[in-house]
Amino acid sequence: MPAVFWAHGNPMLTLSDNRYTRAWHALATRLPRPRCILVVSAHWVTTGVRVTTSGQPATLHDFGGFPQTLYDITYSAPGAPALAADVAERLGGQGDDRRGLDHGTWTLLRHMYPEADLPVFQVSLDARLHGDGHLALAKRLRPLRAEGVLIIGSGNVVHNLNLYHGMRAGYPWAQTFVDTLRTHLAQGSCAPLLDPRTLTADGALAAPTPEHYWPLLYVLGVRHENEPLSFPVDGFEGGSISMLSVLVGDA
Ligand code: ZN
Repeated sequence: MPAVFWAHGNPMLTLSDNRYTRAWHALATRLPRPRCILVVSAHWVTTGVRVTTSGQPATLHDFGGFPQTLYDITYSAPGAPALAADVAERLGGQGDDRRGLDHGTWTLLRHMYPEADLPVFQVSLDARLHGDGHLALAKRLRPLRAEGVLIIGSGNVVHNLNLYHGMRAGYPWAQTFVDTLRTHLAQGSCAPLLDPRTLTADGALAAPTPEHYWPLLYVLGVRHENEPLSFPVDGFEGGSISMLSVLVGDA
């Protein structure tokens, strides 16, 4: 099963039809049908690793100031309690049967799998870890791919809401960041990618906080050596949000 890092952008994308949402849908039609979906989302950061173990996870509307239509959305996919508990153990984490699915998950999945008939669970980001720690955890998830589990990282490699404004093209520093990232990904060099703040001179602008970047490391960590890597969609929103996505494997 391939694995994919999706840039989730603004939650309003769940109601949109554009090149990003079409890329999400198109990839889902090309993938083998997953047995289950595991999402590492930028919007669940905890102390220690947590894994959703609810059999029927709620839809979390974890944002403010959006139209009511966005709060009316539900994504009623079942959970995968047994596999999720197993994954929690593999990662040295804990199950959480109260936590639902955040918008980093359902914004994407409503376009990929609108029927909401595939089991979904989330793995949190442990705030105490650095890049190498996230990569090491991701490697423990790699065997799940052979079991038909679709692993999705959901974030944005450049995510600076303070500098967000009307421009569509990326700021020069943001474009440099993405170009540098793509070069390292193409060369298969993982070490420079562990810390976004040191990836370029202006890395701290690209990732003022690391949580939207970290999900990329989970997709890189489940990659087999020399496995194909491609970019299903790229671009910027508001100059400071990168929509670069990364696919690991053939699809
Ligand atoms: Zn986000």
